[in-house]
Amino acid sequence: MTPTHLVVDPATEEPVAEVSLTSGDDTDAAIERACVAFQTWRAVAPADRGRLLRRFAAAVDGAREELAMLEVRGAGHPIVSARWEAGNVRDVLDYYSAAPERLFGRQIPVAAGVSVTFKEPLGVVAVIVPWNFPMPILGWGVAPALAAGNTVVVKPAERTPLTAVRIGELALEAGLPADVLTVLPGKGSVVGERFVSHPAVRKICFTGSTEVGTRIMAAAADQVKRVTLELGGKSANIVFADSDLEQAAATAPEGVFDNAGQDCCARSRILVEHSVYDRFLELLAPAVERVQVGAPVEESTQMGPLISAGQRASVRSYVEGDGVDVAIRGSAPDGPGYWYPPTVVLPGSVTDRVWREEVFGPVVCVLPFTDEADAVSKANDSAYGLAGSIWTRDVGRALRVARGVDAGNLSVNSHASVRYSTPFGGFKASGLGRELGPDALDSFTDVKSVFISTGGEGHAGQA
Ligand code: NAP
Ligand code: MG
Repeated sequence: MTPTHLVVDPATEEPVAEVSLTSGDDTDAAIERACVAFQTWRAVAPADRGRLLRRFAAAVDGAREELAMLEVRGAGHPIVSARWEAGNVRDVLDYYSAAPERLFGRQIPVAAGVSVTFKEPLGVVAVIVPWNFPMPILGWGVAPALAAGNTVVVKPAERTPLTAVRIGELALEAGLPADVLTVLPGKGSVVGERFVSHPAVRKICFTGSTEVGTRIMAAAADQVKRVTLELGGKSANIVFADSDLEQAAATAPEGVFDNAGQDCCARSRILVEHSVYDRFLELLAPAVERVQVGAPVEESTQMGPLISAGQRASVRSYVEGDGVDVAIRGSAPDGPGYWYPPTVVLPGSVTDRVWREEVFGPVVCVLPFTDEADAVSKANDSAYGLAGSIWTRDVGRALRVARGVDAGNLSVNSHASVRYSTPFGGFKASGLGRELGPDALDSFTDVKSVFISTGGEGHAGQA
């Protein structure tokens, strides 16, 4: 009998769908089919590959509401967010549909010939997706990998396979050849580990915990398998006294409570210049209390439940311990569902667990700082370095601090960290490599240098 996973609605705890889990043998077979398909996919004319990706984008666009509803029920995402997420898959496919015809190499001056470089696809690329953003994270791996001429196998998180399975069907409906994109729902310990150990998989694109990412990187070394890692975060939101404090406080909740804080870019450490610290907290309280927490299907809902009872227990462990100073608490529904209210904690010191570790839930810490140097030093006092925000009216300071903070994605007077046309990725323990933007294509290709002798003068052969 095939083992299955029961997808549960995190807002109601009711069953949504039962999904068959892919076995190790079936994973191997899918990888081998993807390996065969690679030979034909890489040979598809660039303009035709682009056209197929645009058709795939159109199919996703046509199914946007259906996909959004699958994420509402299967992952508890608010409908407005889920629509954005499905639209993001479409946009990323559209963006990279232009790439096949623009995957430029170089012509480099050399003696006695012509030297050119090509960006060659790697082969079979495996994308391992977490449960927090099932659609966008799938798209960020799949779209550039396919555009560059690779074939792709995807493992969605065991908990959230529904949108990935549907997107796999849409690819076929749009005309992508069989085995170019294969979605394999299953366990990390089965499907994920086969991706890492199978020699035909030439690259792993992983998003998830730093713990699993570290293990994947070590295991990939055996075959010098390429890896892109998008891991955890503990990003700082730095608020200077000269900022628009009302705006900084009003937007701080969206910077951390989006997706109930289950967001690697969550600005979960707010650093406030000491002279405005009390005023900031006064302004923050009503903003936190205003966050609409409720049924994901409601258009007005801004925050839904956590993904699981286990995740809620983990979040609670950071807040409900001895000596944790909870300054502000928003609302959350009672009854079934994995609800947790937006919560603001005032840590006693920078050594507190809630200040240092990624909570991955709707919990934010606020701490004062003395001056610009102290702000940068406190922001950088973290193993992570994914994102961050800087609130100030001083342009010079904004740029100095942005350059000083060791993180891959910073925003000034804004909390936006993700745009499909700009690179995304982490410093330090937050990851390796870049997704999105022009840079992602480098992660799915190897550079090949070819010398063509024109005869005549010169020596071609130095090693
Ligand atoms: P995780 O275990 O790292 O899971 C991420 C993905 O990796 C899932 O598809 C998972 O499959 C798969 N996986 C697990 N073990 C694997 C292995 N040995 N080889 C290959 N693939 C494997 O993350 P999690 O347990 O869901 O979440 C734990 C914590 O990680 C969170 O609380 C949060 O702190 C962090 N996290 C970060 C992000 C991010 O966006 N950076 C996303 C999610 C989680 P299964 O679903 O079958 O386990
Ligand atoms: Mg795990």
